[in-house]
Amino acid sequence: MKNPIPIDRAAILKRYKPVATNAHKGIQGHALLIGGSYGKMGSVCLSSKAAIKTGCGLVTAFVPKCGYEIVQISIPEVMVLTDEKEKYLSEIHYDFIPNAIGIGMGIGQELPTQKALHDFLLKNKSPLVIDADALNILSLNPKWLPLVPQNTILTPHPKELERLIGKWTSDEEKMEKTIAFSKTHNVIVVMKGAPTHIVAGETVYKNTTGNPALATAGSGDVLTGIITSLLAQSYTPLDAALLGVYLHGLTADIALPETGHESFIASTIIATLGKAFL
Ligand code: AMP
Ligand code: MG
Repeated sequence: MKNPIPIDRAAILKRYKPVATNAHKGIQGHALLIGGSYGKMGSVCLSSKAAIKTGCGLVTAFVPKCGYEIVQISIPEVMVLTDEKEKYLSEIHYDFIPNAIGIGMGIGQELPTQKALHDFLLKNKSPLVIDADALNILSLNPKWLPLVPQNTILTPHPKELERLIGKWTSDEEKMEKTIAFSKTHNVIVVMKGAPTHIVAGETVYKNTTGNPALATAGSGDVLTGIITSLLAQSYTPLDAALLGVYLHGLTADIALPETGHESFIASTIIATLGKAFL
């Protein structure tokens, strides 16, 4: 493998597209975040809030019925659609074409949820980010991987990656296996870690922002919301992944001197997005 390409300020400024002066919410992209289950609604709340704070025009959250009031009250800017089931997802339905979809945060692995993911993959036509338990469900059902559209962004943390590609005994082997997986399935793999690598076939990028403050509950859910929002705003999947990972890390670099590691939480990432963009 060649040396990874560093994703630094110069690389990001080449890719960043400022918001047009004639922008309105109807053309800034509509992101759909599908996630949550009983006791884990925070995941999809964090993703949805991160998505709206990353600049897309509209955000809808699709959640189990128990999440309706939770999302409506937590984030008034976000619209909500609900599943028939109270506590987990069983059938994903919506009557618009989202510009991008992020799926998997906090969904658990109930059998009806697994089937819901399968049926969703059969009918989905939108650019896609797959995270968390949606990745784990694919690991449990590897024969569904061909249903994942080309250029989908997968955002596994190390354990989720291991379930997808199998164990490794060295960093080199981990990278080789991830590159092979990315090529076989035509997907972009965001290998979350310290640092995060973004694998697009043989081309590998290495993020230059971020610090251990990001090792906190919900941090990955926020990243999924950021990347889905960028995808909804017509960034290419690769640029959405690179810019999203960079901004997510940058919030931690900006906020750390004020919060310290201990009190930096996932909501701090969202609260600092504005400074990161500026
Ligand atoms: P998740 O495990 O899904 O919540 O994702 C955790 C997020 O935090 C990923 O974006 C990781 O890259 C990031 N992260 C976790 N630990 C560190 C660390 N020590 N340094 C930098 N980034 C980290
Ligand atoms: Mg996660």
